[in-house]
Amino acid sequence: MSATIIDGKAFAARLREKVAHHVARLSDGHGITPGLAVVLVGEDPASQVYVRNKGRQTKEAGMLSVEHRLAETATQAELLGLIGALNDDPAIHGILVQLPLPGHIDTDLVINAISPAKDVDGFHISNVGLLGTGQKSMVPCTPLGCLMMLRDHHGSLAGMEAVVVGRSNIVGKPMAQLLLGESCTVTIAHSRTRDLPATVRRADIVVAAVGRPRMIPGEWIRPGATVIDVGINRIAREDGKSRLVGDVDFDSAVEVAGAITPVPGGVGPMTIACLLANTVTACCRANGLPEPEGLTA
Ligand code: NDP
Repeated sequence: MSATIIDGKAFAARLREKVAHHVARLSDGHGITPGLAVVLVGEDPASQVYVRNKGRQTKEAGMLSVEHRLAETATQAELLGLIGALNDDPAIHGILVQLPLPGHIDTDLVINAISPAKDVDGFHISNVGLLGTGQKSMVPCTPLGCLMMLRDHHGSLAGMEAVVVGRSNIVGKPMAQLLLGESCTVTIAHSRTRDLPATVRRADIVVAAVGRPRMIPGEWIRPGATVIDVGINRIAREDGKSRLVGDVDFDSAVEVAGAITPVPGGVGPMTIACLLANTVTACCRANGLPEPEGLTA
């Protein structure tokens, strides 16, 4: 048996179209343009690529894209000052501070300085609490993308056994909260889990968010399970170049799973698409307008 491939690239393209449609309606019907500000501190090459891609896709969706680049040596006070100004700027509906921040800056302090209503990454402690208590919040983009693909594939997830491998604040924990919200029976596994293969084997849904190349082999996957691979790991190829692989060993897992996301082309493209969706949601909430269907959890 070979699994259905869940095409995150195509799904993300459809989501971006939906976002662009709502942006056009906001503009035509209300004279409002959703605005996203991205703040980058320092010169990290990977972060620069992410920020560039976010800016490009934001503009392509018809939204206002604002980039603020601060030097590696920028002080915490400077960054907090900028966030304060963006919080007060009515043209900006979403603020994203690109992580990681340089070591001399307190990341939690900075994230919690963002207005929760503009926290389109969903990392502010208020949004974490709202999600945890099942209230309306801004949902972190990567888990939101995973949930959208799962819902699209399965319809209802109620009663399913879900195992999330990884307990980070940005992926594992919010993913588990979302699956709990869908009435899954949720297990969160991590580096201290005693018998990871047996734990994963119980799952109807496996979400792998570990950061270890091809750590989960097909033999751990229950036949017919749905596998969402969040991992992005760069490994060396024989020809000296590099390539991306997930946390799941795709070649063996695809033979056992019922459905699986590839890497690249699975979860990755959904993350920015969900960032755009969150910005539109934030814009609608800020203006007291009904939230578009299908853009949030
Ligand atoms: P973190 O490093 O913050 O968390 C990794 C988690 O994996 C931890 O909870 C850790 O457990 C757990 N873990 C590590 N080793 C093992 C092991 N041997 N067995 C079981 N669990 C283990 O990573 P992130 O959550 O930030 O990211 C995870 C992956 O997802 C990375 O590859 C990252 O690049 C990718 N990613 C992809 C995104 C996308 O857009 N597609 C967005 C964000 C991340 P413990 O807590 O016990 O240490």
